[in-house]
Amino acid sequence: MLTPITDRSVIVTGASRGIGKGIAKLFAAHGAKVMVVARGRAAAADTVAEIRAADGTAELHLCDVSDWSEVQGMVETTAAAFGGVDILCANAGIFPQVKMVDMSPDDWDAVMATNLKSTFLCVKACIPYFETAGRGRVVVTSSITGPITGYPGWAHYGASKSGQLGFLKTAAMELARYNTTINAVMPGNIMTEGLVDLGEDYLTSMAASIPLKRLGAVADIANAALFFASDEAAYITGQTLVVDGGQILPESLDAIAGI
Ligand code: NAP
Repeated sequence: MLTPITDRSVIVTGASRGIGKGIAKLFAAHGAKVMVVARGRAAAADTVAEIRAADGTAELHLCDVSDWSEVQGMVETTAAAFGGVDILCANAGIFPQVKMVDMSPDDWDAVMATNLKSTFLCVKACIPYFETAGRGRVVVTSSITGPITGYPGWAHYGASKSGQLGFLKTAAMELARYNTTINAVMPGNIMTEGLVDLGEDYLTSMAASIPLKRLGAVADIANAALFFASDEAAYITGQTLVVDGGQILPESLDAIAGI
């Protein structure tokens, strides 16, 4: 049983759907005050409404996490609404598929800005609030794709997800003086709206390559994020946790054919 995170002020980026929505709902169910962040209003408002319908506390803030002034506004608004910032879940990300032969420099920059630069911007903007609080928690949503595995079409995405882990190690050292930890969850294939957009063939082939024989649920990632955000994880920083149903383990499809 984890110490409750009641009344902690939490920012969850990319919380209008998918993994971020799962994190927002789980943290709110555990008593946290959650700032739901995305660019699109309608889906983000739905997340807020679902949390409030379950007697949770949530507010909505529209923000492009790749834009420094918008990120500063996101953090200031959260601090004003909830009395500070205790936990940042840097989750927003995009994963457009395009092979390098067709990938433009702008394609590359867009993925880096949304997935990697945003991680730095969101953490940087929260530092003054972690310093004031005398503690803080950052949970980054990375991926197995890039740090561990590869997939055609995701050279830019994989680089951005590996980049988050490179950032994490130095960030952990710099944030230590503010009694703040930073850790990353590395999801495998998690059933989200974004994953569904990749098509039925992708989903079927991925499920077949996972020893636990199913795609992950958003709650599988949210539970790991909740642990990293908890008091019980106070002495863990700069670390990663793979949550993938064992997907990175088989050396070939034959290896799991008979299990
Ligand atoms: P998703 O279903 O596509 O949701 C993405 C969320 O991010 C949406 O709320 C989206 O809202 C928001 N977002 C995108 N660009 C943004 C921006 N520039 N500023 C603010 N918000 C933005 O994605 P997901 O599958 O939940 O993935 C979430 C994270 O998990 C990503 O970082 C992804 O790389 C990582 N991940 C996912 C999987 C998986 O299997 N699903 C596996 C490994 C890692 P708006 O479009 O309205 O802004």
